[in-house]
Order: sequence, then structure tokens, then C-alpha cells
Amino acid sequence: MPALRPNSIIGILGGGQLGRMMALAAATLGYRCHIFCPEADSPAAQVSAKATVAAYDDMAALDRFAASIDVATLEFENIPVATVERVARTVAVHPGADVLRVTQDRLLEKDFIRQAGGGTADYAAVDSLEDLTAALARLGAPAILKTRRMGYDGRGQVKIASPADAADAWRQLAPQACILEAFVPFTAECSVVVARDVAGNIASYVPVQNRHEHHILSATLAPARLAPVTMQAATALAERIAGAINVTGLLAVELFVTADGGVLVNELAPRVHNSGHWTIEACHTSQFEQAIRCAAGMALGDPAAHCDAIMRNLIGDRIDGVPALLADARAKVHLYGKAEARPGRKMGHVTWRYPKGQRPDD
Ligand code: AMP
Repeated sequence: MPALRPNSIIGILGGGQLGRMMALAAATLGYRCHIFCPEADSPAAQVSAKATVAAYDDMAALDRFAASIDVATLEFENIPVATVERVARTVAVHPGADVLRVTQDRLLEKDFIRQAGGGTADYAAVDSLEDLTAALARLGAPAILKTRRMGYDGRGQVKIASPADAADAWRQLAPQACILEAFVPFTAECSVVVARDVAGNIASYVPVQNRHEHHILSATLAPARLAPVTMQAATALAERIAGAINVTGLLAVELFVTADGGVLVNELAPRVHNSGHWTIEACHTSQFEQAIRCAAGMALGDPAAHCDAIMRNLIGDRIDGVPALLADARAKVHLYGKAEARPGRKMGHVTWRYPKGQRPDD
């Protein structure tokens, strides 16, 4: 496919901060964005040429949206598959419905990762309290019960410390279809963002280390300081999965590092990822530009980092610290244009750059 011509319109399904930063990158490459999402005045719409505010199941609005754009992509992995299929009747959508079908369901996702040769926590499907009791007997406690669908940032999951907690955990998530995962005693969490273009060429960012607070990413340290063999294993596995799932666009692979230096996959996200925000300041091509390049049919840019970095999220009332951050001339502050700072809501992020090898460890 030849690259989209300048001034072409890229449709983005989803209106959050990821779409906002994709739209800014698209503008740099001479494209315009049209955002489709149910919320008015979304972070992405604020910086885009056009926005449609409609429900994801509003087929007439989707048809009008599809007719107005040259290609579509997405910034939110829980866009309904039927929405993507509808848009795909008119224009190409990258990544496509087949990728979403797998990554929207934790059970299908883990089955897929194992088939692709990756390791995961041990897991079992849970559709009833009886299933949960049997799964706990097999996998042991502690374990984590998660909804198969629509979970993110720790939503839709309950830690089970002992089998006696099973009924209470099931009550919290029933009647949703669930998966029980054995608790992984990880030594670190890391992620790899892989870009894959329409021709199947791959460019990966260096593995980074992630810290979470209350299940929400709080900081990313780039690069991860892990044994070279672990860094290589993480990259090789992420690239293998990106090829196997046949994604066009970005695939973020979240990994647990185990005590023996091995890696297990936690989850996949077929989109730009919070743990890739540091690439704006520290890499030759940011993850956002890379996502637009993939959607637009351009060649991949160089993902190499020219420095080290730390990225911290501004979650909830941490936004109140912005004046102090702005007084730090070395801090690059990104704000997402959200009106209200609710607990757990990502309001912005900050990145600090360091010469290679001189990054502090937190
Ligand atoms: P998730 O929404 O699945 O990415 O989970 C959010 C966070 O919960 C992860 O980043 C981990 O810190 C923790 N977590 C999730 N699943 C497991 C697991 N099987 N074992 C240990 N920690 C987990």
C-alpha cells in the first residue's frame, strides 16, 4: 500500500490521551485526524481537525465517520469488534478486528500467547463458584480472579489470598466470565512496545521497567536494568507474538520477570501504551509517530533511544504538583486537557531525560 498523501484523514476510534498524542504526531507528518468516541470534548478531539461524538454502536454515525476518512486506527483496545468491522466495510482499520478479538478476552489472549510459544501465569477459565473452587485447588493461593473482558488498570480483578476467600471474590465479579491466574512472584515488571508495518517489518523499543501503584502504572524507567539475556528474551518474545497475531500497528507486551531471569507475558495491548510515553523525548521516532506511520502505510521510523528516561504519570490529585514540576526546567510536562481530576484518572505525565547510563533507579 502506498503511504497516505499529506492532508489525508486518519480516523481514530477512542478519544483519550493516547489518541491525543497520536493526533499530535499525525499533525507533524501532515495528516489530519477525525476522532470517534462517545464523550464530548475528549482529550483527542481537542487537538484534532474533526470529532464525531456518538456511541460505538451507532451504525449510521460509524458509516458517516468511515466515509469521511482515509484509514482508521484505534487508541483503546476495548472498542467493540462490531464497531471495527463496520468501519472496515469502508476503509482499512489497523489493527483489525481479528487482533481485537484475541486481546479483548484474557482467556483467548493467554491461549494465544501459549500457542505462540510464550509463557504466562498458570490459569483456568471460571464461570461459576464451583469452577473457582476447582481452579484454586489446582493453581493454589494466592491467585487473582479477573474478568475475561473489559478489565484495565486493576478494574475487574480480585486477589484471593486463601481458598476461604473464594465465595467473596466470586460474588464481586459474578456473573461475568472470569479467569483465575496463579499469582506470579515477579522480581520486576517490564514491557516491550513493538511496531509492525503493513509489510510485516518490525521495529521494537528497548524493554522498559514499570512500577505500579494500586494496579495503575505510576512510573516507567527506560531502559529496564535487567540482565542482557532477559532483555533479549523479552524483545524476542514480544516480536514473536506481534508476528503471530499479525498486527499492523503497535503491540505493547506487558511482562513479568521471574527470579530466574525468565519472562512471562501478563497481557497484550494492540495500541500505543502508557509505558511508551518516554519515547516522545528519548527516541528518534516516538511510539505515537510509529503508530501513525503504520496506519498511514509509511516505512517504520528508527525506534532507537538517544538517551535514558523516567516517565511518571500524573494521576488524580498529583496534577496539583504541576506548578512545581513546571519550575523544574528539565521536566517535560504533558497534560491531557481533562477537566476533572478524579482518583485513579490519568491527567498527564512527566518525562525526565538522562545521558545514557546516568539514570537514577527511581
Ligand atoms: P493487569 O490489569 O492484568 O495488567 O494487572 C495489573 C497489575 O496487577 C499488574 O501490572 C501486576 O502488578 C498485578 N498482577 C496482575 N496479574 C498478576 C499475576 N498473575 N501475578 C502477580 N501480579 C499480577
